Amino acid sequence: MTPQDPSAAKMTQSSVRSANLALVLSRIPGEEGSVSRADIAAQLGMTRSTVSRLIDDLIVGRLVREGETSAGGRGRPAVPLNLQRRSVVSLGLEVNVERLVATLVDLTGEVLVVRQRDLDVVALDPADAMGQLAELATEALEGRPAGSRLTGATLALPGLLDRSGTRVLRAPNLGWEGVEPSALWRLSVDGEPVALRSANDIDCSALTVLRDDPQASFIYVTGEVGIGSAVAINGEILAGRSGWAAELGHVCVDPHGHLCGCGSIGCLESVAGARGLLRDSGQPGVASLIAAAEADEDLALATIEGAADALGIALSAALNLLDVENIRLGGHLGQLEPFMRDRLAAVLNQRVLWARHSGIEVEVVERAPLRAAMGAGLAGLGQVIADPATWIDELLAD
Ligand SMILES: [Zn+2]
Repeated sequence: MTPQDPSAAKMTQSSVRSANLALVLSRIPGEEGSVSRADIAAQLGMTRSTVSRLIDDLIVGRLVREGETSAGGRGRPAVPLNLQRRSVVSLGLEVNVERLVATLVDLTGEVLVVRQRDLDVVALDPADAMGQLAELATEALEGRPAGSRLTGATLALPGLLDRSGTRVLRAPNLGWEGVEPSALWRLSVDGEPVALRSANDIDCSALTVLRDDPQASFIYVTGEVGIGSAVAINGEILAGRSGWAAELGHVCVDPHGHLCGCGSIGCLESVAGARGLLRDSGQPGVASLIAAAEADEDLALATIEGAADALGIALSAALNLLDVENIRLGGHLGQLEPFMRDRLAAVLNQRVLWARHSGIEVEVVERAPLRAAMGAGLAGLGQVIADPATWIDELLAD
């Protein structure tokens, strides 16, 4: 293809438009606040007329809506822009040890419908679990807003997927190995099969944190049965080459420590995961561990300090490697944060090379049981946000 080739020029033009549509769309907020065409033109250094043409297309494509003109101020009143609600929806699904969830999420991140079944998923055959999940998804779709378009379905799974995101390599807590969820998935809407993609559940959860803070950089660590983690840098989840990045739970914190569920020795998870905490404290559950810590019981406090040390060692390695200064703790690590705070800060300040120069923030992420399913829904909408042209051109042609 030479530069003189007219089809090449046309292709370049359309890919520039497509990239610009994505860029403009990325500047438009969901519900919180709004922007005007002039704001976006100034932010992106584009002309007002270029931005206006792109916005018009996004409005016709039903991805963006114009609000009421704000009165007052000098000059022409600005028309506020927001993402269109209930127009594009995505099925966010979750298979976890103890529940199946189907949600319907729209472009603004609003969860429109939730269907949940609490049961012992480990006892189910994977085909049975996927069958029940499809039933829940069908119920969720019955609540779909009239005239909305479905982007597809994304499944959040507590495990490691192959590079293409189709096969579960290992999901030890579920007992799934070599399972291909999409091969066990049957769901149609208006006679069309709904494609299913799978993703790691913690990466999905991290997307819900990014929804509230789109350009953020952080390491998210959540304590469940195991330890899950995800890294976001400038608003992007760090996937690594195969989507296997950010397994902080399996960073070694004690080479002579306990056997981990992964088969290795002394991983962070073997100390700060629920099993390790209950083993070391002799408590029957995390709630009773917290109660014992509140009552100043020595063994409970020592167990939590041990977990804080281990978390500090693993996080320091990650921070030194990644240059991220914000830590978000979820699950039981969030609940234990008040008891870990001083010890964790001491370890981080000692071990992170630049801690004295920048400071390290530790925040607690609010507990939300549906976080992974909601995040899966957001992941499904990611393709619309990354490439709106493909999505709206069908409507523009009408
Ligand atoms: Zn491990």
